[in-house]
Amino acid sequence: MSSFKAVVIRQNEAAATQSVGFESLDDADLMEGDVTVRVERSTVNYKDGLAVTGRAPVVRRFPMVPGVDAVGTVETSESALFAPGDRVLLNGWGVGETHLGAFAERARWKSDWLLPLPSGFSPDEAMAIGTAGYTAMLAVLALERHDIKPGAGPVLVTGAAGGVGSIAIALLAGLGHHVVASTGRTEEADYLKSLGAAEVIDRASLTGPPKPLARERWVGAIDAVGGATLANILSMIRYDGAVAACGMAGGLDLPGSVAPFILRGVTLYGIDSVYAPKPVRLAAWERLDRDLDRAKLARAMRRVPFDGVIEAARDIVDGKVRGRLVVEIG
Ligand code: NDP
Repeated sequence: MSSFKAVVIRQNEAAATQSVGFESLDDADLMEGDVTVRVERSTVNYKDGLAVTGRAPVVRRFPMVPGVDAVGTVETSESALFAPGDRVLLNGWGVGETHLGAFAERARWKSDWLLPLPSGFSPDEAMAIGTAGYTAMLAVLALERHDIKPGAGPVLVTGAAGGVGSIAIALLAGLGHHVVASTGRTEEADYLKSLGAAEVIDRASLTGPPKPLARERWVGAIDAVGGATLANILSMIRYDGAVAACGMAGGLDLPGSVAPFILRGVTLYGIDSVYAPKPVRLAAWERLDRDLDRAKLARAMRRVPFDGVIEAARDIVDGKVRGRLVVEIG
């Protein structure tokens, strides 16, 4: 039995509070699964920030190791799908929520949750994309299914300086769309333009009380914010346009009206990355390989040492993180 370092969230039942810190775990602490992985890289998503800070009830089993994304090398496998030495990629499946996650030097997971690391990406690049970037791709695919073509009109991206937003801008601009980036950090305008945003707007213009219908502005939108922002966006989408909603950084509610749906034929697509089936994931990673400009990905990425991951998780829910963080675990 060998020990390994992990971030562990524990709950104090009596006080209903939680604590988080580094601990030494051993193999007996690992949960069920048929593949043991030496974790090399992870990343910090908004959800990891919610888990570490306890600001939303993301963790549903204690003790928990947070971390919803990983790249690692298989150490042992009882599955025919993977052999020791294989490089694997994990995104979601309740890891970091109900099953011990990726902020650890070792993990045991189900082979059904793992994909071979796509050959077009280094471990750092795959984690610079991570759940945030793969979700951005799922949202782009939803707009494509709606037949929103480059040149059809401006496409809005909210939470633009965050992880989903940064990758969504790079993808949409790379495909030839006119991208409008909405941010609370207008000082990041140069960064957003370097990813391909054609225009940058202040997110405050989308947070007032939503009208049932407002001036038609965008043919489509990718929204990482939710709440009044999503309601305002829906009221501003052009006739027959669509919104891909994937986030709640500004709220879980949706304080709008049905007017955009019944008077403008607007469509609202829901995006879930966590339990998306394997063929959907493979298709999204294939498109990321084909369409994501690696220089823009590098611009959006910053490395964090394993020891800095708890602080980084706190920073992300405080809106202090730009783009994507890659955590160097092993
Ligand atoms: P980030 O923190 O990197 O990005 C979120 C961005 O939202 C911030 O950078 C900020 O952008 C903006 N924002 C933050 N707080 C507020 C606020 N109160 N009001 C308006 N805007 C705000 O997180 P991620 O990109 O990792 O995730 C974004 C959202 O998408 C989260 O809610 C996350 O839970 C969700 N998500 C959902 C997934 C799914 O499967 N559906 C998968 C991945 C993420 P700026 O400073 O530019 O304004």
